[in-house]
Amino acid sequence: MPAHAPSVAIVGAGFGGLAAAIALLRDGVTDLTVFEKAGDLGGVWRENTYPGAACDVPSHVYSFSYFQRRTWTRPCSPQEEIHDYLAACADHFGVTPHLRFDAEVTRAVWDEEALRWRLELGDGGSASFDVVVPACGQLSIPARPAIPGAETFAGHQFHSAEWDHDHDLRGRRVAVIGTGASAVQFVPPVAERAGHLDVFQRSPNYMLPRRNLGYPAPVRQAIMRVPGLQALRRRAMLLMMEAMVFGLKGNRAVEGVLRAMSWALLHRHVRDPELRRRLTPDFAYGCKRILFSSYYYPALTRDDVDLVDTPITAITPGGVRTADGVEHPADTIIWGTGFDTQAFVAPMDVVGAGGRRLADVWAGGAHAFYGLTVPGFPNLFLLYGPNTNLGVGSIVVMLEAQARYVADAVRRLRAQGAPAAWDVLEDVERAFDEQTQEHLRGTVWTRCANWYRNADGRVVNNWPGYMFEYERATASLNPAHYALLRAEARSSGEAEPVRP
Ligand code: NAP
Repeated sequence: MPAHAPSVAIVGAGFGGLAAAIALLRDGVTDLTVFEKAGDLGGVWRENTYPGAACDVPSHVYSFSYFQRRTWTRPCSPQEEIHDYLAACADHFGVTPHLRFDAEVTRAVWDEEALRWRLELGDGGSASFDVVVPACGQLSIPARPAIPGAETFAGHQFHSAEWDHDHDLRGRRVAVIGTGASAVQFVPPVAERAGHLDVFQRSPNYMLPRRNLGYPAPVRQAIMRVPGLQALRRRAMLLMMEAMVFGLKGNRAVEGVLRAMSWALLHRHVRDPELRRRLTPDFAYGCKRILFSSYYYPALTRDDVDLVDTPITAITPGGVRTADGVEHPADTIIWGTGFDTQAFVAPMDVVGAGGRRLADVWAGGAHAFYGLTVPGFPNLFLLYGPNTNLGVGSIVVMLEAQARYVADAVRRLRAQGAPAAWDVLEDVERAFDEQTQEHLRGTVWTRCANWYRNADGRVVNNWPGYMFEYERATASLNPAHYALLRAEARSSGEAEPVRP
């Protein structure tokens, strides 16, 4: 049978898009285009340039297993190093010539006759592909809460993911709103520069220590020279992360150790019992993402830094007003308020078989078979889709698994010798979703408000198990889970696809 070489479009050139491109190129796919709305690759590691931006998962696990760098300067690499690493990956694996920058995909429409996706671009152009891989991330759309008066603020304001480096913070009166993973990284350097800093906290978080000092020369040498050391460190760190998941799944001993470490960090750095009380969360350990910093609490104890935990009621021209009627003067507001985490492919409009819009299918909360495929959206493979985020772990492990799955799917399409498309079966996807939600019902994430859940309380973002379970389950595409749509079958008048 003559080979049919499917064409593939990837949307997004961050960690996920690159993982997919690399897996496909390594598998011999050459008709590949990576559409990127910005002028550079890197995804969140291009966008988030705030002071102190670094991964909070060590780089030897927060990087591709097959492209290990031994020259990271510290355990959790700063943003520039990660961005540089991603560019090096793109060059090394030959992705660079396939990148198309300043090319936003605004709409993707499934053509049921041709078994192809038609992509519409922001510049008015269009293109058709056999397979589409949205790799748009879960943390790419900055969220600013609708606090009354925000538009009346007379000073300067920006979101942490859109840092204004031209705005000199020296001597300024700065208000930071939000105390999540981003804020705990940029609050310490901002506190160094600002004249005065108010940190507006809605909920405190659990924190674990992380000094993240540069590797001493002998350690660097050892990492460079000792055979197998990097692989060993990687394996050990992944095991440690899975052990933390074990703790968050209800193992009291592991959870107890983590809790004790958080308690000790708070008590060591914050002497004032009243401030300590205000920094002590009242929700289940691990319900919101556990944060890592040995610098955040000390920053809050500075004389020129105040923690404000009275709810914000309004932004005024001169600052931030809280529920006690106090107006906290500010000339700069930095929104550390996170992301629209449940939009997934949005603002791209995805229209599948029968004209169904993915946004409508997901109206009650996004769902997909292993976060990858949705019935009625044939040959659409999501990266970092619903229920694939981790409370603890390296998302790169999940992305690699998803990229392998996509490459396997395309390999099997190629073997058909003619245009064909995988459409996940509705009952398979529904059963998977019910099982996943059942699993999630018992998890710690259902015990507080967090960015993993939607307004109805459904956990939309997180994977309920271990990383290794996900890797095992997605090791290859099982044809029994899919209908295989074939062009010949349609042209010969066969109405319905058959289960292979
Ligand atoms: P986030 O964790 O969602 O934190 C947002 C913060 O804004 C929270 O403190 C939240 O309070 C607060 N907030 C939201 N709406 C508010 C309102 N109306 N009034 C007052 N406060 C409000 O966002 P993020 O810090 O940008 O981090 C998002 C995710 O990105 C992280 O969980 C992590 O997965 C990833 N990230 C990773 C790294 C890394 O690897 N180093 C760094 C940064 C971010 P509540 O807690 O009360 O909701």
